Amino acid sequence: MHTYKSIEDIVGEIVRFAPSPTGHLHIGGARTAIFNWLVAKKTGGKFLLRIEDTDLQRSTQESINQIIESMRWLGLDWDEPVFYQSENRNRHIEVAQNLLQEGKAYRCFCSKEELTEKRAKAEKETGGYQYDGKCRKLSGAEIANNLDKKLPFTLRLMTKHKDIRFTDLVIGETKITAGEIDDIIILRSDGSPVYQLAVVVDDFDMGITTVLRGSDHLMNTFKQILIYEAMGWTSPQFGHVPLIMGVDKKRLSKRHGATSVEEFKDQGILAEALFNYLCLLGWSPGDDMELMDRNEIIKKFDQKKINKSAAVFDPKKLNWFNSKYIAQLSIEEILPEIEAYFDTLGCKIIDSDKERFKLLVGLYKIRSGTLAELKENLTVYFFDPEVFTEKGVNKFFTEKRNMELLRQISGKVASTPNDPFSSIGNSEIFIRSFAEEQNTSAAKVIHPLRLAISGKTESPGIFELVYILGREKIIRRIDKALTFIEKLER
Ligand code: GLU
Repeated sequence: MHTYKSIEDIVGEIVRFAPSPTGHLHIGGARTAIFNWLVAKKTGGKFLLRIEDTDLQRSTQESINQIIESMRWLGLDWDEPVFYQSENRNRHIEVAQNLLQEGKAYRCFCSKEELTEKRAKAEKETGGYQYDGKCRKLSGAEIANNLDKKLPFTLRLMTKHKDIRFTDLVIGETKITAGEIDDIIILRSDGSPVYQLAVVVDDFDMGITTVLRGSDHLMNTFKQILIYEAMGWTSPQFGHVPLIMGVDKKRLSKRHGATSVEEFKDQGILAEALFNYLCLLGWSPGDDMELMDRNEIIKKFDQKKINKSAAVFDPKKLNWFNSKYIAQLSIEEILPEIEAYFDTLGCKIIDSDKERFKLLVGLYKIRSGTLAELKENLTVYFFDPEVFTEKGVNKFFTEKRNMELLRQISGKVASTPNDPFSSIGNSEIFIRSFAEEQNTSAAKVIHPLRLAISGKTESPGIFELVYILGREKIIRRIDKALTFIEKLER
């Protein structure tokens, strides 16, 4: 049996996250993990990770690795070695056998065919089905006879006919009325323990004091309470967190776009931003504080303040959080990742250009929703624009006068003896005086120029941009833009 040392010494809550490794870690699961982790941190307890790998058909090592990686990335550390449910199988079976011996469970010899037939009939007649308890009433002789004949059997819990109530941490008083749950199977005919039993035994053995999980587990909780009662064990406190919906108020699914932690990571969402945002899906500190670091969240978190109603996942809001976190990062912090990315594209930043590139990172850092967007924005440094936005072309590349301005400025940049873009200040003087010479406003020069050198109608300040890109690129890009415009005209 897997035991956890020092449980007795802990004053705080012992909580767990218990994912089934049948896919990636979804944000619903991640939020459950975060809430549990917060309870442990808040109360000075322990956060444990249990991989529920008993469904051998659907569990994969790849999912286990991915879940663990996503949790690490989110900074959710667990306080004991990972617990694997499959390793506790013998103990699950032992508990089921105990229940049988104590007369709290019984052998059910009903065949699959018989049960399927009964179910179909009941569903047709009444719309619902429950096991009728036929094998409860078998005599000792009948059981012995069936065993002699080696008839396969399941073990069923002898469910008491009474209401089941508990006080949910999130939803408050909760109950189901007597008769809503039939004699649940705890051991299948192949001898394998069912999920409900495994969860109860593991939670008990791990000393779990609070179980916070998605509200889709509410019905399981009632069944699990029956097993706790049959074993004479005190059950943990339960809390059921409402599910996460998409902006259309439908249950979050692939249709809504990215849903796994890994996908958000790949999109360039920062772990701290996702952590912060997920905390606020279903919980709020009660004031308007939204951007909070981990320590602040731990300080303010209160599981009793988890919302009773479903939370809406809004990717735009997540991007807003992310942009705030990206803006807060120092350039030095993100530079290695950015350089590594451009390295894979064969783009190197030579030492003498580094300062200018860093300046550009700083300028785009505050304008990017995700790291991916930041990288995409920074391509302006390495690649001449291949396309120009349609809006920009219509606005700034159609007038003859603009073409003339571009031609003139390119010539002037090339023929000025000293580099006109040797500093941001000089760049400004150069562009403004060029506009004056042309009897036009600086804006009239800046718009087509920006489009020509970046392909876009929006960018950081043009004086900074021309300084960072440097004279050679500017001349080349303007000339390429002019060729593009000429083609447009033909
Ligand atoms: N393994 C279950 C799941 O991934 C969770 C069980 C629980 O939290 O009790 O949905």
